[in-house]
Amino acid sequence: MIDGLALLGAGVLGLFVGLAAGLAFRLSEREQRGVPAPEPAELAEDVTALLAVLPFGAVVTTPDLRVLRASAAARAHHLIRGDRVVQPVARGLLADAAADGATHVVEIDLPAPAIGRGPVPLRLHAMPLGARHLLLLAEDRTEARRVEAARRDFVVNASHELKTPVGAIALLGEAVGEAAGDPEAVVRFAERIQVEAQRLTELVGDILELSRVQSEGAVTAAEEVDVAGVVAEAVDRTRTTADARGIALESSGSGAVVLGDHAMLVTAVRNLLDNAVTYSDPGTRVAVATTPRPEEGVVEIAVVDQGIGIPPEAQPRLFERFYRVDPARARDTGGTGLGLSIVKHVVADHGGEVRVWSEPGRGSTFTVRLPLPPPEEEGDA
Ligand code: ADP
Repeated sequence: MIDGLALLGAGVLGLFVGLAAGLAFRLSEREQRGVPAPEPAELAEDVTALLAVLPFGAVVTTPDLRVLRASAAARAHHLIRGDRVVQPVARGLLADAAADGATHVVEIDLPAPAIGRGPVPLRLHAMPLGARHLLLLAEDRTEARRVEAARRDFVVNASHELKTPVGAIALLGEAVGEAAGDPEAVVRFAERIQVEAQRLTELVGDILELSRVQSEGAVTAAEEVDVAGVVAEAVDRTRTTADARGIALESSGSGAVVLGDHAMLVTAVRNLLDNAVTYSDPGTRVAVATTPRPEEGVVEIAVVDQGIGIPPEAQPRLFERFYRVDPARARDTGGTGLGLSIVKHVVADHGGEVRVWSEPGRGSTFTVRLPLPPPEEEGDA
């Protein structure tokens, strides 16, 4: 989704540079034909319309860097003061563009705008606009850098997580070879290989699922989805595990219809139910309650357990990829640390949010809030 925005931004920038080049061509053509060049105010009409749709800071100057037009973003980044370009790198870049008539690009870090904030990465593009003007575009790269960092982290974490079961399988394979004369040991090692292979399968499955729900437009065909049906299917799929662990699984509430993807919503609710069952003791109860709240424009699906609970300091990190409160316990429960990331993405793709309440020793409640479609106006078909 974020990658999509970055792509869209890059596309718009490309389009704008193309338009700027076209405009520049038209202007210089006019000048070559002896048509007087437009006054700054006249030029501004064309350019203002373009600046208005541009998601980047933009400044149009005279060759001596006097500002004729500037967008609010360019002012916010303190590239200009009054009618002067004051940022030294931007000045240099515009001077270069004026000197050789080419487009110049550079990436800079502006000092942090406030305490506790990081520097602002900006990509500056300077180019001539006709024979008499210069254009400076400032592209805020903060989000793009964050996405790049998140992707790098994900690859590092995923490789690390995959290495553990793969390493275990390799060692167990060796052990089987060495225990050839001891059939009992061979059976024991073979069983452990199966456990590690199962873990590997879950991990790869969750990674694929996460990349699917993260991909742009994962909710492609938004259809009317019956929330009661989603909950019933998720409960059905968790029933066997809950029974095996001696946990009572109940669902209650009234139905509602949301716009979205049935299968993705089932995955999200099932992940919450799986967790509720996994992190609860036998003899406890897991309940899922559906409550439409038309006054707030949402329907709530709350998954409530009486399990081990989550310490307050861990709660803000729960939805991070690969985060597990107790990694040692996760080896036994088979958790991958991706379940809640998947929930977060699915819910966000549906325009909703997920909240958590938890107290160690008492249990946890995860509440998914999905927007209800706007009520039909009277007279609507
Ligand atoms: P996992 O596959 O490890 O369950 P999740 O992303 O689903 O990964 O959950 C992340 C971590 O949050 C879990 O490892 C667990 O420590 C904690 N957690 C999630 N749900 C619950 C719950 N209902 N009760 C207690 N802890 C939970």
